Amino acid sequence: MTPWTHSLAAGLDRALQPPAVRRAGRAARELAGLLLPVDCAVCGLRDGAVCPECAGQLAGALLRPFRAERDAAALPLVSAGPDAGPVPLAVVAAGRYDGSLARALLAFKDHGRTPVGRHLRPAVHRALAAVPALVTERPPGGPGVAPALLVPVPGSAAGFRRRGYDPVAELLTGPLPPGWELAPWLLRPARRRAGPGAGLGRGSSSASHAGTAATLRRRRSTGRFRATDPARFPGSRSVVLFDDVMTTGSTLAAAWHALDRVGRRPVAAVVLAAVTAPGARPSGGLNSP
Ligand SMILES: [Zn+2]
Repeated sequence: MTPWTHSLAAGLDRALQPPAVRRAGRAARELAGLLLPVDCAVCGLRDGAVCPECAGQLAGALLRPFRAERDAAALPLVSAGPDAGPVPLAVVAAGRYDGSLARALLAFKDHGRTPVGRHLRPAVHRALAAVPALVTERPPGGPGVAPALLVPVPGSAAGFRRRGYDPVAELLTGPLPPGWELAPWLLRPARRRAGPGAGLGRGSSSASHAGTAATLRRRRSTGRFRATDPARFPGSRSVVLFDDVMTTGSTLAAAWHALDRVGRRPVAAVVLAAVTAPGARPSGGLNSP
């Protein structure tokens, strides 16, 4: 794509969802939430977007960001240094996906309850602020983990049409903690391409690796997202991914591979909620108090 068509495409993207329209939509949804009586998104019983009791539970569930990559089997493996073996990509989560946080996120993501975001955004900020302390690995030869460009994992166009908003973008509205710069233009959903080579870019040595599980996984994952040409964003700042929920880590892996292919390998990821190992969940699952 030429620089001209690049900027045309970027302009069209912005025109389809200009910030003023998004702000107006958010304001209308939040006003509707104030005017219409709503049941708490977490307990479904008491009044309010999130009732005071559930707000307290939610705040407690989001109090301490933690390293969450251990149970996510699909994360990319990265070098932990010259003397260490490969390790999964470092992921900082604001909370565990269960209990009140799971219910709040479900309402926020899939039931249009965007006012719930007010209770989730402070936790995103806390997780971002905790990254320098929690991610102490330094990528060989690269800049430190923070300050960094924060790249939201893009949602699909179909998801945006269905919801009328992008939950990940909603979580990142407002100023970020010092040192963080939002860089949503670095990554976008890829258009679907048919055929066995879908997702492979120029220079991929498909012949030498054809048939290996790693290559198949790479084809699938790189095919989901497309990273912007690095010439459009010169600079050496670290790149950190952001997503709302991590389960196996496959979505983060897809985003990581897309950026890695253009030479901007993310050094870590931050998520609002991480699904942790089944043994670590309360026995009541999502319906537990
Ligand atoms: Zn409640």
